[in-house]
Amino acid sequence: MKDHELFRRDVADWLAENLTGEFAGLRGLGGPGREHEAFDLRLAWERHLAASGWTCVGWPREFGGRGLSLAEQVIFHEEYAASGAPARVGHLGEQLLGPTLIAHGTPEQRQRFLPKIVAVEELWCQGYSEPGAGSDLAAVSTSARLEGDQWVVTGQKIWTSLAHVADWCFVLARTEPGSRRHSGLSYLLVPLRQDGVTVRPIRQLTGTSEFNEVFFDGARTPASMVVGEPGDGWRVAMATLGFERGVSTLGQQIGFRRELEGVIEQARRTSTIDDPVLRTELTRAWIGLRVLRAHALRTLGEDAGPEVAVSKLLWAQWHRRLGELAMRARGPRSLVHDGEPDEWQRLFLFSRADTIYGGSDEIERNIIAERVLGLPKEARA
Ligand SMILES: Cc1cc2nc3c(=O)[nH]c(=O)nc-3n(C[C@H](O)[C@H](O)[C@H](O)COP(=O)(O)OP(=O)(O)OC[C@H]3O[C@@H](n4cnc5c(N)ncnc54)[C@H](O)[C@@H]3O)c2cc1C
Repeated sequence: MKDHELFRRDVADWLAENLTGEFAGLRGLGGPGREHEAFDLRLAWERHLAASGWTCVGWPREFGGRGLSLAEQVIFHEEYAASGAPARVGHLGEQLLGPTLIAHGTPEQRQRFLPKIVAVEELWCQGYSEPGAGSDLAAVSTSARLEGDQWVVTGQKIWTSLAHVADWCFVLARTEPGSRRHSGLSYLLVPLRQDGVTVRPIRQLTGTSEFNEVFFDGARTPASMVVGEPGDGWRVAMATLGFERGVSTLGQQIGFRRELEGVIEQARRTSTIDDPVLRTELTRAWIGLRVLRAHALRTLGEDAGPEVAVSKLLWAQWHRRLGELAMRARGPRSLVHDGEPDEWQRLFLFSRADTIYGGSDEIERNIIAERVLGLPKEARA
């Protein structure tokens, strides 16, 4: 316990000493709906973190990580969020692809990619969703065929977060012609900066563009860039999703707490704080945050499954309600802007997406219905 307190102080001290100079202005920047904020400086900050060994902190040391225990990782993420340090830019490589390669990659793939994720020299994006395959991911139709010693990839992905800044994409593609559903898919690593790839930003409600359409038109990647066996991509893709909600959710909750404090501050300024209904709901939000934290601590380190589905439902709905509270706290001013939404309007608008990405509410409820309650599976066409 004492060691943990010392470790907490070390992390807090390092952050306080380093979030200074050019990095001081990064406090509170970035994150969902605000990925455009100070991107280049956030990248420089993340490389600075890497130089002191503060990226990939939960990875084993043999793969370039810091080998922190689960408790230490929680402490790191909590202190990171509490310091106001900016949202990370390399999280898709660090939290999704890296752990997938550690579990399922070849030694050559690990050697080629992990050091560059640790050093934040290469950024990744996730190419799963397509116009005809979202919740029903097994409907993927992007295809890839082997031509000599290369895969040739053709098809379209959509909602690909950060593809416009990424160097590589992990792509779920159909590699066995005529295969259906979960079989015949492969998990390919595809470089994005090549002629056969077009990335087209999608403008969101918030006015910003942090996800994209990605078109593969004969894009190429070496035959060795398949993770797991060809045709076994579904299993690997599910493993990646299992890594999606790790210990960083406890850091996310510290960010939520700061947002709630900000909403209360807004309510004070506009005097909406005098509204007894709003006061009740702000108090409920505070209690909800305690429930989120208790649930996250109780299920820490558990594999993907019903507990994770409960977590996703709880935080997504909590955060969406917070967006609505932000609008109410600001009163009539929340209804207008001068061409660009402000911080609170953006919170409201972006939080509408929380109940969609990473598993929509309906899909999470289906998981609980089928796996916990044993209800009959849904009929499928
Ligand atoms: C901000 C954001 C970032 C994203 N980033 C990425 C990314 O980086 N990479 C990537 O691959 N994807 C990404 N996505 C896509 C995301 O994974 C999909 O939006 C999600 O899986 C839902 O798929 P869909 O949009 O096709 O909706 P659909 O699957 O078409 O669903 C539409 C509606 O129908 C409901 N529905 C669907 N099936 C069922 C069912 N069986 N039972 C009950 N209701 C059902 C859904 O809950 C939803 O309300 C992102 C999405 C958002 C919003």
